[in-house]
Amino acid sequence: MRTFRTFLAAMAVLTLVAVQPAAAQRRAPQPKTPERMYLDAMFENIKGTEIFDCVRLLSDSTLFQGRLCGSEGMRRAVDWVSSRYAEIGLQPLPGRPDYFLNFPTVCTEVTGPCSLTVEGRTCTWAKEWYAGGTSANGVAEAEIVFAGFGVSAPELGYDDYAGIDVRGKIVLIEGETPNTSRNDDTLRIWYPYTLHQYKVANAVAHGAIGMLYRWVPGPNNGYDPGFVYAYITDNLADTIFEGSGRDYDATIRQLRAKKRPASFATGKKARIQMTMTHREDAVGHNLLGMVRGSDPELCNEYVILSAHLDHLGMIPYHIAGANDNNSSTACLLAVAKALQASQVKPKRSVIFLSLDGEEAGLTGSLYLTAHPVIPPENVKLILNLEQVGIGEGFSVGYKYDSPEVIEYVKRANDQYVHRPLDFFPNRYVTRPRTDGAVFMKNGYPTVDFYAEGGISYYHEPRDNWEIQDPSTLQDVARALYWSVINAANAD
Ligand SMILES: [Zn+2]
Repeated sequence: MRTFRTFLAAMAVLTLVAVQPAAAQRRAPQPKTPERMYLDAMFENIKGTEIFDCVRLLSDSTLFQGRLCGSEGMRRAVDWVSSRYAEIGLQPLPGRPDYFLNFPTVCTEVTGPCSLTVEGRTCTWAKEWYAGGTSANGVAEAEIVFAGFGVSAPELGYDDYAGIDVRGKIVLIEGETPNTSRNDDTLRIWYPYTLHQYKVANAVAHGAIGMLYRWVPGPNNGYDPGFVYAYITDNLADTIFEGSGRDYDATIRQLRAKKRPASFATGKKARIQMTMTHREDAVGHNLLGMVRGSDPELCNEYVILSAHLDHLGMIPYHIAGANDNNSSTACLLAVAKALQASQVKPKRSVIFLSLDGEEAGLTGSLYLTAHPVIPPENVKLILNLEQVGIGEGFSVGYKYDSPEVIEYVKRANDQYVHRPLDFFPNRYVTRPRTDGAVFMKNGYPTVDFYAEGGISYYHEPRDNWEIQDPSTLQDVARALYWSVINAANAD
């Protein structure tokens, strides 16, 4: 009997279950959860193919000409990004009339033919040389003298210029210093000698008229109206050393190992021709647009997503900087579009920050930290994007004493994206190399976000849109979208 009753009861439950769908159909649809609304906006607005098309557009050589800070090409790129901000519907920051935070800057740019010859042979652009980003206008033609790292540090018992005469000559110099220690105090001692500006100033002080600088090209360097220079590659350094009985790489290794200069006159001649214009009254442009937070009080706190838009300009030919850093600008715009489109908004306000001058020495982020547009204590988190279009995994840098900032990214990736994730704490004792490092040094809770694990090319012509990966771009933007939401809604 008891069994039969249990059977009847079970049948009743089953009947109820069976009629459930019909009943549910008659009821009003369940309201969407906030997560569902965020997801709908994400799927609709963060699409790898669209982000890829944006990278491709920003990599256009005619329109944007490599986006050198202070140049006409960069101004057009800034105008384009600000028009995207407006289309998306971002607001200017409180009390500001528009998105622009302009700052004064200098701008040295190529405005005519540039060339390099060694022993009468015309060298091949990119394979052997690039125009000096802040070179003087003119021609330097002279013997090449190898001057190590170009460092004169008597207090450290080290002088690359001892025993050589470079007056009226062209110096061949390697970047960085002979220091190999990672100890904080030692890094601090050598720090001033790592600066490119120092290399130029010291070469000029020793009477050199030009420089072949074995380093990646860029506009972050010192300008002297009488000093013409070019960047050179390993290939050309090897060629210049040919016949000297020395090997370039071995010489640099020995300098590092023994810290004893090995400078010498190579006996070879170079002719550097640079056609440049130098302006002291150029203008840099940071852009700030905002999605206002939904909480009446927390909306006065901010999560910032930042990416530098600038690159190297024409040196003298185009380098797109597709990965560095159009990939990041394109992801930033996709996140902005999705968040603006979402039916639910995070509690804190979210600022989308397009930075200028990163390649010229982090001038845009330095200006912003020196002239804050919102109270620094109201910044909850800065997520700075660098080179995010190639790679299987993500790499997240943070300041060693604030590991809590990585949780927002970790949770976003674990829940929605599932890419391999690496974390690296940084002490930032040496030269800051990213805008993120500038923010960290100024006390802002910051993560530097990169894609990693693929073959990418840095400051050279192969950094072009063809090798950007739409699926990586999509996952980066989605991970950052959720990281922003996590931080902006955090307790
Ligand atoms: Zn970059």
